[in-house]
Amino acid sequence: NTPVDMHFVTADELRGRLPKRPKFSHKGTFGHALLLAGSKGKIGAAVLATQACLRGGAGLVTTQVPAVGYDILQISAPEAMCLTDSATDCITELPDLAPYAAVGIGPGLGQHHDTRMVLRRLLQTARVPLVLDADALNMLGAYPELQKLVPPGALLTPHPKEFERLVGEPARDDYHRLDQLRDFAGRTGCYCVLKGAYTALAAPDGTLYFNSTGNPGMASGGSGDVLTGLLLALRADKRLSPLDAALLGLHAHGRAGDLALPHTGHAGLLASDIVRFIGPALEELM
Ligand code: AMP
Ligand code: MG
Repeated sequence: NTPVDMHFVTADELRGRLPKRPKFSHKGTFGHALLLAGSKGKIGAAVLATQACLRGGAGLVTTQVPAVGYDILQISAPEAMCLTDSATDCITELPDLAPYAAVGIGPGLGQHHDTRMVLRRLLQTARVPLVLDADALNMLGAYPELQKLVPPGALLTPHPKEFERLVGEPARDDYHRLDQLRDFAGRTGCYCVLKGAYTALAAPDGTLYFNSTGNPGMASGGSGDVLTGLLLALRADKRLSPLDAALLGLHAHGRAGDLALPHTGHAGLLASDIVRFIGPALEELM
């Protein structure tokens, strides 16, 4: 048994690691993020991730949704640009990736065969940072040959069930699951999150980081979609390393939930409330 390098990440050690916005910055300074999300009945996941990406400070956000999501997204996130797929209910087309600094895929995506082909193409062709979540991870779990295409440096954000599908083997206990997480990151060269209270992050070098923010009010639908959008914004910012983007994003997501709590209570905390406090949570880290 080799000793495991583990860190409990506090606000003190992150403060200052999010660069301030230079006076003469413009929207090109902070990167253009592309999000592929949503399917019929789950356009809300695309909306939440898009809003979180905007609040996360991306210079520009473009979200591709199936045609059914066009009006919904344009109305609920007017600051984002919207690409519509030619299919009504799910995503079947990969746009030209040239304009984008980072790509996120997964929230509300569904697992249609054609959507899987889009994921495959993305994994094969993307030369920019990737954030993979939700059904993108479920498809990686269901199709090991797809998993082999995940490029090193990608950021994966499974919750425990998605992680179990990803590694194809249930964990014996929480310690074993953390071993699996380190193995996975080491084997794939990816940054892999394990979401929950004290969300863990495994870096490719095997180091484990534990997030210190967040509360059980966040245990409700949509919280994870918000995390994906926020992480995507930070990965699109070329000034941040992959590790700092991940640690800052996990911290700010939980902190935003903590800042929302006095206004909502635990039961009343919605994912959209987390979105609302992303700005103040990030400001604390600058
Ligand atoms: P998902 O299951 O994809 O919606 O993701 C849930 C999100 O909420 C993750 O970012 C979790 O870390 C967070 N979350 C869920 N439950 C808790 C909890 N009990 N304490 C802190 N954060 C939580
Ligand atoms: Mg989720």
